[in-house]
Amino acid sequence: MEAFQRIILVHYHEIGLKGHNRSTFEKRLQKNLEALLVLWPVVTVHRVAGRLVVFLKEGTSFEEACAVTDALVLTPGVARVSCGFKCARDMEVIGRAALDALADAGPFETFKVHGRRNHTDFPVDSMAINRQIGEVLCLAHPDKRVRMKDPDVTVNVEVVQNAAYVYARSVRGIGGLPVGSSGKAMCLLSSGIDSPVALWRTARRGATCVAVTFSGRPQTSDAAEYLVDEICQVLQKNGCVGRLYVVPFGDYQREISLMAPPALRIILYRRLMFRVAQALARKERAGALVTGESLGQVASQTMENIACTNAVVDLPVFRPLIGMDKLEIIGDAQRLGTFEISSQDAPDCCTLFMPRSPETHAKLSVVEEAEAQFPIDEWVEELVASAEPHDYACPSYKPPKSR
Ligand code: ATP
Ligand code: MG
Repeated sequence: MEAFQRIILVHYHEIGLKGHNRSTFEKRLQKNLEALLVLWPVVTVHRVAGRLVVFLKEGTSFEEACAVTDALVLTPGVARVSCGFKCARDMEVIGRAALDALADAGPFETFKVHGRRNHTDFPVDSMAINRQIGEVLCLAHPDKRVRMKDPDVTVNVEVVQNAAYVYARSVRGIGGLPVGSSGKAMCLLSSGIDSPVALWRTARRGATCVAVTFSGRPQTSDAAEYLVDEICQVLQKNGCVGRLYVVPFGDYQREISLMAPPALRIILYRRLMFRVAQALARKERAGALVTGESLGQVASQTMENIACTNAVVDLPVFRPLIGMDKLEIIGDAQRLGTFEISSQDAPDCCTLFMPRSPETHAKLSVVEEAEAQFPIDEWVEELVASAEPHDYACPSYKPPKSR
Protein backbone atom coordinates (compact mmCIF):
# COMPACT_ATOMS: atom_id res chain seq x y z
CA MET A 1 0.00 0.00 0.00
CA GLU A 2 1.30 3.43 -0.85
CA ALA A 3 1.62 6.01 1.93
CA PHE A 4 0.21 9.37 0.99
CA GLN A 5 1.95 12.60 1.86
CA ARG A 6 0.40 14.12 4.96
CA ILE A 7 -0.85 17.67 4.66
CA ILE A 8 -2.58 20.11 6.95
CA LEU A 9 -5.06 22.59 5.53
CA VAL A 10 -5.37 25.88 7.36
CA HIS A 11 -8.65 27.67 6.69
CA TYR A 12 -9.32 31.31 7.51
CA HIS A 13 -12.44 33.41 7.43
CA GLU A 14 -12.81 35.32 4.25
CA ILE A 15 -15.35 37.87 5.43
CA GLY A 16 -14.03 41.35 4.81
CA LEU A 17 -11.02 40.01 3.00
CA LYS A 18 -11.14 41.58 -0.39
CA GLY A 19 -8.56 42.80 -2.86
CA HIS A 20 -5.35 44.10 -1.31
CA ASN A 21 -6.38 43.31 2.29
CA ARG A 22 -6.82 39.73 1.45
CA SER A 23 -3.37 39.14 0.06
CA THR A 24 -1.77 41.10 2.95
CA PHE A 25 -3.67 38.92 5.39
CA GLU A 26 -2.69 35.72 3.63
CA LYS A 27 0.97 36.64 3.39
CA ARG A 28 1.08 37.67 7.05
CA LEU A 29 -0.56 34.43 8.15
CA GLN A 30 1.76 32.41 5.95
CA LYS A 31 4.86 34.09 7.46
CA ASN A 32 3.56 33.57 10.98
CA LEU A 33 2.87 29.88 10.36
CA GLU A 34 6.24 29.33 8.70
CA ALA A 35 7.99 30.80 11.74
CA LEU A 36 5.85 28.84 14.17
CA LEU A 37 6.35 25.55 12.37
CA VAL A 38 10.16 25.54 12.23
CA LEU A 39 10.21 23.03 15.07
CA TRP A 40 7.99 20.57 13.22
CA PRO A 41 8.60 18.16 10.32
CA VAL A 42 7.28 20.60 7.75
CA VAL A 43 8.48 20.89 4.17
CA THR A 44 6.68 24.05 3.04
CA VAL A 45 3.61 26.17 3.53
CA HIS A 46 1.80 27.12 0.30
CA ARG A 47 -1.17 29.27 -0.47
CA VAL A 48 -3.57 27.18 -2.51
CA ALA A 49 -7.11 28.12 -3.48
CA GLY A 50 -8.07 30.32 -0.56
CA ARG A 51 -6.29 28.39 2.17
CA LEU A 52 -2.83 27.53 3.36
CA VAL A 53 -1.53 24.04 2.86
CA VAL A 54 1.19 22.77 5.18
CA PHE A 55 3.15 19.93 3.56
CA LEU A 56 4.57 17.51 6.09
CA LYS A 57 7.75 15.47 5.59
CA GLU A 58 7.48 11.99 4.20
CA GLY A 59 6.99 9.47 6.99
CA THR A 60 5.37 11.94 9.39
CA SER A 61 3.18 9.97 11.78
CA PHE A 62 -0.46 10.61 12.57
CA GLU A 63 0.54 11.62 16.12
CA GLU A 64 3.01 14.20 14.79
CA ALA A 65 0.41 15.57 12.41
CA CYS A 66 -2.01 15.93 15.35
CA ALA A 67 0.64 17.77 17.35
CA VAL A 68 1.13 20.21 14.48
CA THR A 69 -2.64 20.68 14.35
CA ASP A 70 -2.70 21.46 18.08
CA ALA A 71 0.03 24.05 17.59
CA LEU A 72 -2.03 25.75 14.90
CA VAL A 73 -5.53 25.91 16.40
CA LEU A 74 -4.57 28.58 18.95
CA THR A 75 -2.85 30.80 16.40
CA PRO A 76 -4.56 34.10 15.59
CA GLY A 77 -6.07 34.12 12.10
CA VAL A 78 -6.61 30.36 11.96
CA ALA A 79 -10.31 29.52 11.68
CA ARG A 80 -10.04 25.77 11.10
CA VAL A 81 -7.32 23.16 10.79
CA SER A 82 -7.82 19.96 8.82
CA CYS A 83 -5.49 17.03 8.76
CA GLY A 84 -5.29 14.76 5.70
CA PHE A 85 -3.42 13.68 2.60
CA LYS A 86 -2.28 14.88 -0.78
CA CYS A 87 -2.72 12.38 -3.62
CA ALA A 88 -2.88 12.05 -7.39
CA ARG A 89 -5.94 13.25 -9.34
CA ASP A 90 -7.20 9.75 -9.94
CA MET A 91 -10.50 8.49 -8.55
CA GLU A 92 -9.09 5.14 -7.48
CA VAL A 93 -6.18 6.77 -5.65
CA ILE A 94 -8.53 9.34 -4.09
CA GLY A 95 -10.68 6.47 -2.84
CA ARG A 96 -7.72 4.90 -1.02
CA ALA A 97 -6.68 8.27 0.44
CA ALA A 98 -10.28 8.76 1.62
CA LEU A 99 -10.11 5.45 3.49
CA ASP A 100 -6.91 6.57 5.22
CA ALA A 101 -8.40 9.96 6.06
CA LEU A 102 -11.51 8.35 7.52
CA ALA A 103 -9.36 6.05 9.64
CA ASP A 104 -7.74 9.14 11.23
CA ALA A 105 -11.05 10.81 12.06
CA GLY A 106 -11.81 8.81 15.19
CA PRO A 107 -14.91 6.77 16.03
CA PHE A 108 -18.04 7.54 14.01
CA GLU A 109 -21.42 6.09 13.07
CA THR A 110 -22.48 8.35 10.21
CA PHE A 111 -20.52 10.09 7.47
CA LYS A 112 -20.75 11.86 4.16
CA VAL A 113 -18.41 12.84 1.37
CA HIS A 114 -18.04 16.46 0.35
CA GLY A 115 -16.30 16.76 -3.03
CA ARG A 116 -15.14 19.89 -4.86
CA ARG A 117 -13.10 20.55 -7.94
CA ASN A 118 -11.37 23.89 -8.46
CA HIS A 119 -10.66 23.16 -12.09
CA THR A 120 -13.21 21.85 -14.55
CA ASP A 121 -10.34 20.16 -16.37
CA PHE A 122 -10.93 17.28 -13.94
CA PRO A 123 -13.55 15.13 -15.69
CA VAL A 124 -15.47 14.03 -12.58
CA ASP A 125 -17.82 16.66 -11.13
CA SER A 126 -18.49 17.13 -7.42
CA MET A 127 -21.70 15.08 -7.41
CA ALA A 128 -19.92 12.16 -9.01
CA ILE A 129 -17.00 12.51 -6.58
CA ASN A 130 -19.46 12.27 -3.67
CA ARG A 131 -21.14 9.22 -5.14
CA GLN A 132 -18.05 7.29 -6.18
CA ILE A 133 -15.98 7.94 -3.07
CA GLY A 134 -19.08 7.34 -0.94
CA GLU A 135 -19.40 3.88 -2.49
CA VAL A 136 -15.77 3.03 -1.72
CA LEU A 137 -16.22 4.06 1.92
CA CYS A 138 -19.54 2.17 2.25
CA LEU A 139 -17.95 -1.02 0.94
CA ALA A 140 -15.15 -0.79 3.51
CA HIS A 141 -17.51 0.16 6.36
CA PRO A 142 -20.74 -1.77 5.76
CA ASP A 143 -21.90 -1.13 9.35
CA LYS A 144 -21.79 2.68 8.99
CA ARG A 145 -24.45 4.91 7.48
CA VAL A 146 -24.33 7.83 5.09
CA ARG A 147 -26.07 10.88 6.47
CA MET A 148 -26.28 14.19 4.64
CA LYS A 149 -27.35 16.36 7.57
CA ASP A 150 -24.96 16.61 10.57
CA PRO A 151 -22.94 13.45 10.00
CA ASP A 152 -20.33 12.50 12.61
CA VAL A 153 -17.59 12.79 10.00
CA THR A 154 -17.31 14.59 6.67
CA VAL A 155 -14.72 13.27 4.26
CA ASN A 156 -13.63 16.22 2.14
CA VAL A 157 -12.16 15.77 -1.32
CA GLU A 158 -10.74 18.85 -3.02
CA VAL A 159 -9.38 18.50 -6.50
CA VAL A 160 -7.01 21.36 -7.33
CA GLN A 161 -4.74 21.99 -10.31
CA ASN A 162 -2.12 19.30 -9.88
CA ALA A 163 -3.35 17.20 -7.00
CA ALA A 164 -6.21 16.24 -4.75
CA TYR A 165 -6.47 16.91 -1.02
CA VAL A 166 -8.44 14.47 1.09
CA TYR A 167 -9.20 15.04 4.77
CA ALA A 168 -11.70 14.09 7.44
CA ARG A 169 -10.19 15.20 10.73
CA SER A 170 -10.98 18.86 11.24
CA VAL A 171 -10.70 21.10 14.30
CA ARG A 172 -11.94 24.62 14.81
CA GLY A 173 -9.27 27.33 15.40
CA ILE A 174 -9.55 30.55 17.39
CA GLY A 175 -10.10 32.72 14.30
CA GLY A 176 -9.32 36.41 14.42
CA LEU A 177 -6.60 38.12 12.38
CA PRO A 178 -2.94 37.15 11.99
CA VAL A 179 -0.58 38.90 14.41
CA GLY A 180 1.07 41.80 12.62
CA SER A 181 -1.97 42.89 10.64
CA SER A 182 -3.31 45.61 12.96
CA GLY A 183 -0.56 47.62 14.63
CA LYS A 184 1.38 47.30 17.86
CA ALA A 185 0.05 47.35 21.43
CA MET A 186 1.79 47.76 24.81
CA CYS A 187 0.21 45.35 27.30
CA LEU A 188 0.44 45.69 31.08
CA LEU A 189 1.17 42.11 32.02
CA SER A 190 1.20 40.69 35.54
CA SER A 191 1.52 37.08 36.67
CA GLY A 192 -2.23 37.12 37.39
CA ILE A 193 -4.95 35.30 35.49
CA ASP A 194 -6.45 38.27 33.66
CA SER A 195 -3.77 40.21 31.84
CA PRO A 196 -2.36 37.23 29.84
CA VAL A 197 -5.88 36.67 28.51
CA ALA A 198 -6.20 40.38 27.67
CA LEU A 199 -2.92 40.25 25.73
CA TRP A 200 -3.98 37.12 23.91
CA ARG A 201 -7.32 38.61 22.89
CA THR A 202 -5.54 41.69 21.57
CA ALA A 203 -3.11 39.52 19.59
CA ARG A 204 -6.09 37.61 18.25
CA ARG A 205 -7.31 40.81 16.64
CA GLY A 206 -4.01 41.05 14.81
CA ALA A 207 -1.96 43.37 17.06
CA THR A 208 1.73 42.70 17.60
CA CYS A 209 2.00 42.74 21.39
CA VAL A 210 4.79 44.06 23.57
CA ALA A 211 4.43 43.62 27.33
CA VAL A 212 5.59 45.46 30.43
CA THR A 213 5.57 43.99 33.90
CA PHE A 214 6.18 45.85 37.15
CA SER A 215 8.09 43.80 39.66
CA GLY A 216 8.31 44.40 43.41
CA ARG A 217 12.08 44.04 43.17
CA PRO A 218 14.18 45.00 45.15
CA GLN A 219 11.53 45.00 47.88
CA THR A 220 10.39 41.49 46.90
CA SER A 221 12.12 38.55 45.24
CA ASP A 222 12.00 38.17 41.46
CA ALA A 223 9.70 35.11 41.65
CA ALA A 224 6.81 36.89 39.92
CA GLU A 225 9.12 37.88 37.08
CA TYR A 226 9.82 34.22 36.40
CA LEU A 227 6.11 33.52 36.23
CA VAL A 228 5.59 36.38 33.77
CA ASP A 229 8.47 35.03 31.68
CA GLU A 230 6.82 31.59 31.71
CA ILE A 231 3.55 33.18 30.60
CA CYS A 232 5.37 34.92 27.74
CA GLN A 233 6.84 31.59 26.69
CA VAL A 234 3.33 30.18 26.41
CA LEU A 235 2.16 33.23 24.44
CA GLN A 236 5.21 32.95 22.21
CA LYS A 237 4.13 29.49 21.01
CA ASN A 238 1.51 31.21 18.90
CA GLY A 239 3.60 34.26 18.09
CA CYS A 240 1.54 36.51 20.37
CA VAL A 241 4.29 38.46 22.17
CA GLY A 242 7.49 40.04 20.85
CA ARG A 243 9.12 41.56 23.91
CA LEU A 244 8.66 41.93 27.65
CA TYR A 245 10.01 44.88 29.64
CA VAL A 246 10.64 44.08 33.30
CA VAL A 247 10.54 47.20 35.45
CA PRO A 248 11.81 47.00 39.07
CA PHE A 249 9.14 49.00 40.84
CA GLY A 250 9.46 48.14 44.55
CA ASP A 251 11.42 51.18 45.74
CA TYR A 252 8.93 53.56 44.14
CA GLN A 253 6.01 51.77 45.73
CA ARG A 254 7.76 51.98 49.04
CA GLU A 255 8.23 55.71 48.64
CA ILE A 256 4.55 56.17 47.76
CA SER A 257 3.42 53.98 50.66
CA LEU A 258 5.48 56.01 53.12
CA MET A 259 4.16 59.39 52.04
CA ALA A 260 0.68 59.07 50.53
CA PRO A 261 -2.69 58.39 52.23
CA PRO A 262 -3.02 54.57 52.42
CA ALA A 263 -6.38 54.49 50.65
CA LEU A 264 -4.87 56.15 47.57
CA ARG A 265 -1.77 53.97 47.28
CA ILE A 266 -3.10 51.60 44.67
CA ILE A 267 -4.31 54.40 42.43
CA LEU A 268 -0.96 56.15 42.72
CA TYR A 269 0.93 52.95 41.86
CA ARG A 270 -1.29 52.43 38.88
CA ARG A 271 -0.96 55.99 37.61
CA LEU A 272 2.80 55.58 37.74
CA MET A 273 2.58 52.22 35.93
CA PHE A 274 0.44 53.73 33.19
CA ARG A 275 2.87 56.62 32.65
CA VAL A 276 5.83 54.25 32.37
CA ALA A 277 3.87 51.93 30.06
CA GLN A 278 2.99 54.89 27.84
CA ALA A 279 6.61 56.08 27.71
CA LEU A 280 7.71 52.58 26.68
CA ALA A 281 4.86 52.46 24.15
CA ARG A 282 6.15 55.68 22.59
CA LYS A 283 9.63 54.17 22.27
CA GLU A 284 8.14 51.09 20.67
CA ARG A 285 5.79 53.14 18.49
CA ALA A 286 2.87 51.21 19.93
CA GLY A 287 -0.55 52.74 19.35
CA ALA A 288 -2.42 51.64 22.47
CA LEU A 289 -2.13 50.30 26.01
CA VAL A 290 -3.87 47.09 27.06
CA THR A 291 -4.90 46.00 30.56
CA GLY A 292 -6.72 43.00 32.01
CA GLU A 293 -9.28 45.04 33.92
CA SER A 294 -12.84 43.83 34.20
CA LEU A 295 -15.44 46.23 35.51
CA GLY A 296 -16.01 46.01 39.26
CA GLN A 297 -13.84 42.92 39.74
CA VAL A 298 -11.63 44.45 42.42
CA ALA A 299 -11.38 47.77 44.22
CA SER A 300 -9.18 49.41 41.63
CA GLN A 301 -11.54 48.53 38.81
CA THR A 302 -14.46 50.82 39.54
CA MET A 303 -15.37 53.44 36.96
CA GLU A 304 -14.04 56.27 39.09
CA ASN A 305 -10.71 54.59 39.67
CA ILE A 306 -10.34 53.62 36.05
CA ALA A 307 -10.97 57.26 35.16
CA CYS A 308 -8.24 58.38 37.60
CA THR A 309 -5.63 56.08 36.03
CA ASN A 310 -6.71 56.86 32.48
CA ALA A 311 -6.25 60.57 33.16
CA VAL A 312 -2.44 60.32 33.02
CA VAL A 313 -2.16 58.90 29.50
CA ASP A 314 -3.11 60.08 26.00
CA LEU A 315 -2.89 56.74 24.21
CA PRO A 316 -6.11 54.78 23.93
CA VAL A 317 -6.36 52.10 26.64
CA PHE A 318 -7.91 48.82 25.51
CA ARG A 319 -9.57 46.61 28.12
CA PRO A 320 -10.62 43.48 26.24
CA LEU A 321 -11.95 41.83 29.43
CA ILE A 322 -14.10 44.71 30.65
CA GLY A 323 -17.38 42.86 30.15
CA MET A 324 -16.22 39.36 31.00
CA ASP A 325 -16.98 37.33 34.12
CA LYS A 326 -14.15 35.76 36.08
CA LEU A 327 -15.24 32.25 35.06
CA GLU A 328 -15.13 33.16 31.38
CA ILE A 329 -11.67 34.66 31.84
CA ILE A 330 -10.52 31.50 33.63
CA GLY A 331 -11.90 29.42 30.75
CA ASP A 332 -9.81 31.43 28.29
CA ALA A 333 -6.71 31.14 30.49
CA GLN A 334 -7.13 27.36 30.63
CA ARG A 335 -7.48 27.08 26.88
CA LEU A 336 -4.50 29.35 26.36
CA GLY A 337 -2.41 27.39 28.87
CA THR A 338 -1.54 30.17 31.31
CA PHE A 339 -3.99 29.32 34.08
CA GLU A 340 -1.68 26.89 35.91
CA ILE A 341 1.17 29.40 35.89
CA SER A 342 -1.04 32.27 37.03
CA SER A 343 -2.44 30.18 39.87
CA GLN A 344 0.97 29.95 41.52
CA ASP A 345 1.62 32.34 44.33
CA ALA A 346 4.49 34.74 44.05
CA PRO A 347 4.94 37.99 45.90
CA ASP A 348 4.81 40.78 43.35
CA CYS A 349 4.19 44.46 43.44
CA CYS A 350 0.43 43.82 43.61
CA THR A 351 0.80 42.39 47.09
CA LEU A 352 3.43 44.87 48.22
CA PHE A 353 2.44 47.72 50.57
CA MET A 354 -1.27 47.19 50.07
CA PRO A 355 -3.64 49.29 52.17
CA ARG A 356 -6.31 47.61 54.29
CA SER A 357 -9.17 49.58 52.75
CA PRO A 358 -8.40 51.01 49.34
CA GLU A 359 -10.39 53.88 47.89
CA THR A 360 -13.07 52.63 45.54
CA HIS A 361 -14.44 55.98 44.39
CA ALA A 362 -11.39 58.14 43.93
CA LYS A 363 -11.72 61.78 43.00
CA LEU A 364 -9.20 63.01 40.46
CA SER A 365 -8.48 66.32 42.24
CA VAL A 366 -7.75 64.53 45.52
CA VAL A 367 -5.51 62.01 43.79
CA GLU A 368 -3.61 64.75 41.96
CA GLU A 369 -3.06 66.60 45.18
CA ALA A 370 -1.68 63.52 46.92
CA GLU A 371 0.61 62.92 43.98
CA ALA A 372 1.97 66.47 43.77
CA GLN A 373 4.64 65.78 46.41
CA PHE A 374 6.42 63.19 44.22
CA PRO A 375 8.93 63.92 41.43
CA ILE A 376 6.81 61.93 38.98
CA ASP A 377 8.52 62.93 35.72
CA GLU A 378 11.90 62.06 37.15
CA TRP A 379 10.59 58.72 38.35
CA VAL A 380 9.13 57.87 34.98
CA GLU A 381 12.47 58.61 33.34
CA GLU A 382 14.35 56.44 35.85
CA LEU A 383 11.87 53.59 35.55
CA VAL A 384 11.94 53.64 31.75
CA ALA A 385 15.75 53.64 31.83
CA SER A 386 15.78 50.67 34.20
CA ALA A 387 13.36 48.56 32.10
CA GLU A 388 14.98 45.24 31.16
CA PRO A 389 13.94 43.90 27.74
CA HIS A 390 13.39 40.15 27.21
CA ASP A 391 12.75 38.99 23.66
CA TYR A 392 10.42 36.28 22.36
CA ALA A 393 9.73 34.77 18.96
CA CYS A 394 7.17 36.87 17.12
CA PRO A 395 7.69 37.17 13.36
CA SER A 396 6.01 40.58 13.05
CA TYR A 397 7.82 42.22 15.98
CA LYS A 398 10.48 44.80 15.21
CA PRO A 399 12.37 46.28 18.18
CA PRO A 400 12.79 50.06 18.33
CA LYS A 401 15.93 51.40 16.64
CA SER A 402 17.52 53.17 19.61
CA ARG A 403 18.77 50.97 22.44
P1 ATP B 1 -4.40 40.35 36.72
O1 ATP B 1 -5.08 39.05 36.94
O2 ATP B 1 -4.13 40.63 35.28
O3 ATP B 1 -3.19 40.52 37.60
P2 ATP B 1 -5.99 41.67 38.66
O4 ATP B 1 -7.32 41.04 38.72
O5 ATP B 1 -4.96 41.31 39.64
O6 ATP B 1 -5.43 41.47 37.18
P3 ATP B 1 -5.37 44.49 39.15
O7 ATP B 1 -4.31 44.17 40.10
O8 ATP B 1 -6.33 45.60 39.47
O9 ATP B 1 -6.28 43.26 38.73
O10 ATP B 1 -4.67 44.87 37.78
C1 ATP B 1 -5.42 45.31 36.70
C2 ATP B 1 -4.55 45.32 35.47
O11 ATP B 1 -3.42 46.20 35.68
C3 ATP B 1 -3.93 44.00 35.16
O12 ATP B 1 -4.81 43.18 34.41
C4 ATP B 1 -2.72 44.39 34.36
O13 ATP B 1 -3.07 44.74 33.05
C5 ATP B 1 -2.27 45.65 35.10
N1 ATP B 1 -1.30 45.30 36.15
C6 ATP B 1 -1.52 45.05 37.45
N2 ATP B 1 -0.40 44.75 38.09
C7 ATP B 1 0.59 44.78 37.18
C8 ATP B 1 2.00 44.53 37.21
N3 ATP B 1 2.63 44.17 38.32
N4 ATP B 1 2.70 44.64 36.06
C9 ATP B 1 2.08 45.01 34.91
N5 ATP B 1 0.76 45.25 34.83
C10 ATP B 1 0.02 45.14 35.94
MG1 MG C 1 -2.93 40.94 39.59
